[in-house]
Formats: sequence, C-alpha cells, structure tokens
Amino acid sequence: MKIARIGPAGQEIPVLVGNDGRIRDLRAVVGDISSQALGDGVLALVRELDVNSLPVIAAQDVRFGPPVADVGKIICVGLNYTDHAAEVGLDLPTEPTIFMKGCRPTGANDPVRLPRGAEKGDWEVELGIVIGKSGMYVEEAQAIEHVAGYCLFNDLTERSYQMERGGQWTKGKSFPGFAPMGPWLVTTDEIEDPENLSIWLEVNGHRHQDGTTANLVFGVAKIVSYLSQFYALEPGDLIVTGTPAGVGLGHKPPVFLKAGDVVHLGIDGLGEQRQNILAWEG
Ligand code: MN
Repeated sequence: MKIARIGPAGQEIPVLVGNDGRIRDLRAVVGDISSQALGDGVLALVRELDVNSLPVIAAQDVRFGPPVADVGKIICVGLNYTDHAAEVGLDLPTEPTIFMKGCRPTGANDPVRLPRGAEKGDWEVELGIVIGKSGMYVEEAQAIEHVAGYCLFNDLTERSYQMERGGQWTKGKSFPGFAPMGPWLVTTDEIEDPENLSIWLEVNGHRHQDGTTANLVFGVAKIVSYLSQFYALEPGDLIVTGTPAGVGLGHKPPVFLKAGDVVHLGIDGLGEQRQNILAWEG
C-alpha cells in the first residue's frame, strides 16, 4: 500500500496511490497522515477498505508533499554501507554511527536551495524507515512491528559545514530543504525484503550511485532495535539508514552540487525523486 499527501505545501491532503497509479482521496477516512494517525492505526484501517470505493483524484502535475505531515525525530545512520565507508576513507563502525537532521522534511520533487555561498553541496540517496508504533528496548525479532513503512529520502549535505566547521555532522545536514521525503510511504507488507532493493542516484543524467540495500552494514531490524536503546521511538519518527558509494565527496577529485543541477534518485518499489538545485536568494 502506498500512502501519500498531495497538494501545495502546508495544504496537502491524504491519498492512496493504487498499483494502477490512480490517486484516491483518503479524506473521508482520515484528516491527514499524521504521527497521531499512524499511532492510532490508520494504515490498518485503510487496508480494510474497498479501494474502489474511494474517489479518484484526476489531478495533473501533482505535488507530493512529505508522506507524513509531522515527522518527529529524523535519526540518521552514517557509514552504513560497506562501499560508502571505503570511498570516504573511514573505518566501518562496530556500532551504528548516529546523527540527527534538524530540518523539516520536504516534498520529493521540491526544489532545493543551497546555502549562501555553498560550495560543497552533496547528495545521499537513502532508505527511510517510518516508525508506526512507539517502543523502547525493542527486540530485533519484533522490530518490524514498529515500522509503519519505508520511503525514499535524499540526505542532502553541505560537506564544508559537516567537516570543516567544527562540531557535529548535524551542522551540515540540517539546512532547510535538505530532507526530501517520499513520494510515498510504502507499507511493510508491500516490501518483501527491504535489504534487497536497488538504490540509485543521478545528477544531470549521470549515474553516481548505483547500489543495493543488500550492502547495508546494519539492517532495518537491527537499526530499529539498536536505536530503541537510546531513543523513545514514536509514531512519525523517521530513520534514514545511510547511503551507498558514489556521493560527490567520494569522487577523486570531489564533485559537488551547483545551481542548475538536477538530482534524480530512486529505490525499487519506493518511487523516485527529482530535485532542481537552486542558489540561495537573499
Ligand atoms: Mn546520510
């Protein structure tokens, strides 16, 4: 099941995207896809519906907002692909490397503005995990029960802020617009094996990242269980699981984003994103 929110920013409505590509209105079922609705079991409710009874929205040029209205924490796993750790010259972690992202999620195809004077904007295609049920000290065997679904995510980064300005990675990860999420939240029943999905990213038509989630160092259940030792996981929280090789920083010499670039990314079954990169204004 693919759940989404469409419409102008701040005015999105909840929809179901059918396997036939049709977009169906969920407003009669739920006001919005919020953390509260996820916690209250809205996905189980929608699953029980006769899809054909839902009104079809015949809109063109639909904007997909973030598939959850009020994402809580964005917890990020770093260096979680064997090939990516190697390209940036860092040792594989023995425990997951964790950092936070401090900006609000944006829509899958919303334009991205680089920070003022930015010279080291970079891309990271990632598998996102949306939490649907609260938990602490979650066992790996039960971890997936806490997952509402998966989504595509671009962990955009200003490398100079991340690596040259002191302090923590979060500084380079939190600029407004650096968190495109979606287009859909895809429920766990539809993704047979989240650790066997192709994951890719192109800039201006050139494929830079061409990986598989089979190369995750720490897999989905392990990450959810691990994080629940340190955080109270809550419905609407988003965990992004790291990126495969092929980021701009990993190139020799490095390649970074500039205004006018177009970033296109996708994961099997989770859809695609396309972002126009713009300069900061003002
Ligand atoms: Mn990342």
